[in-house]
Amino acid sequence: MLNKKVAEIFQNISSMLALKGENHFRVRAYEHAAGIIEDLTEDVKDIAQRGALTEIEGIGKDLAEKINDIITGDTTALYEDLKKEIPSGLLELLRVPGLGPKTVKLIYDRTKIDSVEKLEKAAKTRQLAELPGIREKTIENIIHGIGIYQRGQEAVLNPVAHRIAGQFVDSLKNLKEVGQISVAGSLRREKGAVRDIDILIAGNPMQKIIDEFVKLPIVKETRERGPAKSSVIARENNIQVDLRIVEKQSFGAALLYFTGSKEFNIKLRESAIAHGYKLNEYGVFDGKEKCLAGKTEEEVFALLGMDYIPPELREDRGEIDAAISHNLPRLVELSDIKGDLHVHSTYSDGLSTIEEDAAQAQALGYRYIAVCDHSQSLHIAKGLSRNEIHKKSEEIRALNKKYNNFRILCGTEVDINNDGSLDYPDETLKEFDLVVAAVHSGLRQSKKQLTKRIVSACKNKYAHIIAHPTGKLAGQRDAYDIDLNEVFKAAADYNTALEINSYPQRLDLNDTNAMAAKKRGVKIAIDTDSHQFRQMEAMGLGVNVGRRAWLTKNDVINCMGLEELMKWLEK
Ligand SMILES: [Zn+2]
Ligand SMILES: [Zn+2]
Repeated sequence: MLNKKVAEIFQNISSMLALKGENHFRVRAYEHAAGIIEDLTEDVKDIAQRGALTEIEGIGKDLAEKINDIITGDTTALYEDLKKEIPSGLLELLRVPGLGPKTVKLIYDRTKIDSVEKLEKAAKTRQLAELPGIREKTIENIIHGIGIYQRGQEAVLNPVAHRIAGQFVDSLKNLKEVGQISVAGSLRREKGAVRDIDILIAGNPMQKIIDEFVKLPIVKETRERGPAKSSVIARENNIQVDLRIVEKQSFGAALLYFTGSKEFNIKLRESAIAHGYKLNEYGVFDGKEKCLAGKTEEEVFALLGMDYIPPELREDRGEIDAAISHNLPRLVELSDIKGDLHVHSTYSDGLSTIEEDAAQAQALGYRYIAVCDHSQSLHIAKGLSRNEIHKKSEEIRALNKKYNNFRILCGTEVDINNDGSLDYPDETLKEFDLVVAAVHSGLRQSKKQLTKRIVSACKNKYAHIIAHPTGKLAGQRDAYDIDLNEVFKAAADYNTALEINSYPQRLDLNDTNAMAAKKRGVKIAIDTDSHQFRQMEAMGLGVNVGRRAWLTKNDVINCMGLEELMKWLEK
């Protein structure tokens, strides 16, 4: 699909126009078009062939021509001209949270700083303090923003890493030299973001496999090349991909070893020693160096007297003891999910209609969906007035008459106000089937105040779920400083669920927080917060977080059937 490329060029054009100080509407038009094109499910090339580009929302004649330029010539004249004028490093600077085009332009004009690295140095050496309009506070914010940006750069989000890993696996698995192949490492443990990709192969001759690996077209450069292992940088995202090749009889032991985590491996090795064995990446050996197990992971676990430990649990959080005493939880699975309780529609800032959301939910095999649009005060997200709520609930009532065995719940994502009250009065809240409450403003309040707000939302008898409880947004914003223990206590006492938001940049609660919440008796909702029906496919990401948090389907409210859920919602 060419969509990604077109979207990227439009986004860059928008940023460059902003840096030039061009008309706001023109800047916004390119940015808007980039977002729309990125979300399209059909290839722009096919749409262009039908002559239907201008039928896409936000694409007029001028933008359609530019899309055609990109389809035929890989670029468009405006973009080439802008590139000559604006150094590409400035686009990177714009990605630092809190840095707008005006500041970037000012800094560049006066200092010629054109990279994040140079900016960091200038901020830390106080060189920036000499510029007009740059206050001490601005410099502090720049340093803070650079930190968030850099941490975001180091890690690749789980679904992106899976897609890249999948391309490598698909390119290698059919080679006649390759027997078994698997992804390993933190990606196999389903961490939300990873720094590299590990691939393990059992096969022969190893040299032949390495030769094929390093010359794959998806490889940008080779970092290391040995007889049984190699590291390369993938073209996409510049992520490092490590390949290791082992003999067939060691595949299970090697898979264990290279899946990790390091802490888990140490505990497992200790456990082998306690049995009088030695465990390494080649297998489990007795005192006479005889290999007792190693072909499969199952065989190794069994020999050590353990149940099979799913990769998501291998973090040294008590899983080895639980595996020995046969007390591992039966982890929640994607197929246990019966509905999505937090999606948006065109009533607020969503791009899909309620009917489209519902159709997608049914296609995913769900029994219900809660359409939760923003509340009145959130103007930037087109929050709903009383009249609009009424219209929405009428539409849902009419749609529900058409369905068998499926139900749309009329919900809201109500703002938690700065003082901890909710953005609708009780008499409005009680008319919703489901109320999700969330903080979207006043994020810079003190820890005490933010905690108090969320705690009082937990105590509201109409609030069912607290959405994205810590506010983390990878690459853009750290979690806000709140006392989660107090939040867990209130959520448990008042039977309010906390959300695992599956949006890839959020994954909030994260695994450790969700695990702590469960221990405190808190129920969890795993939702996607979709703003376009396709985003509902991200549910698996949230489920992975839940699995890493040891959740079973009994911990997750949207694993309930419809009737049970409706009873729970009565609180
Ligand atoms: Zn929200
Ligand atoms: Zn939302």
